[in-house]
Amino acid sequence: MNNSATPGRLIVLSGPSGSGKSTVIARALAPGDLPIRRSVSVTTRPPRPGEQDGVDYYFWTPEQFAQAVQRGEFLEWAEIHGQRYGTLKREVERHLRDGYSVLLEIDVQGARLIRQLFPDVVTIFLRAPDLADYEHRLRQRGTEDEASLQRRLAAVRQELAEADHYHYQLVNRDLDETVAALRALLRRILNPPAPKQ
Ligand code: 5GP
Repeated sequence: MNNSATPGRLIVLSGPSGSGKSTVIARALAPGDLPIRRSVSVTTRPPRPGEQDGVDYYFWTPEQFAQAVQRGEFLEWAEIHGQRYGTLKREVERHLRDGYSVLLEIDVQGARLIRQLFPDVVTIFLRAPDLADYEHRLRQRGTEDEASLQRRLAAVRQELAEADHYHYQLVNRDLDETVAALRALLRRILNPPAPKQ
């Protein structure tokens, strides 16, 4: 993955549950005009209504996950809200080989590991404008039972405390504006302005 012939960058985007990151990323990449692919992670959590295996996540059993850990198939993995989530090496390598940059939508623990492994990684943190927004959005989404919702809310403050370690922070006030801001940021990351002579 350190092959200098591959121009792709690694980009991490994190944000607490309810920050809107999945929607923002899906919308930002949907036009297909940016040479970036989202890495599909593996998770042991059950699919939410509408989520598709191989699109939103690879939904694996805890046994399958443990075997892949043993075989060293993950670039990083973490336990989050009582479930396991991981980035497959082969997923990232495939996109880089195809000439794309890769966007990892991973939590703050994963971001920390990736930063150590790849000092060139660019990191983005997405947050909601206000603490109360996370609960509001999670309840509106209606995908979590009460216990899962409470676990996710309890983690929000901890995750926010990591935001300063990221290169960029985006505040998701308005979906269209945030998608536009992320697209502009991604373009700048891929095509940095030439240094002044
Ligand atoms: P959710 O269950 O809401 O889809 O995701 C829960 C958390 O897991 C989110 O913060 C998401 O970014 C994170 N996550 C998803 N995939 C991965 C992964 O492969 N590695 C790590 N470290 N976190 C992940």
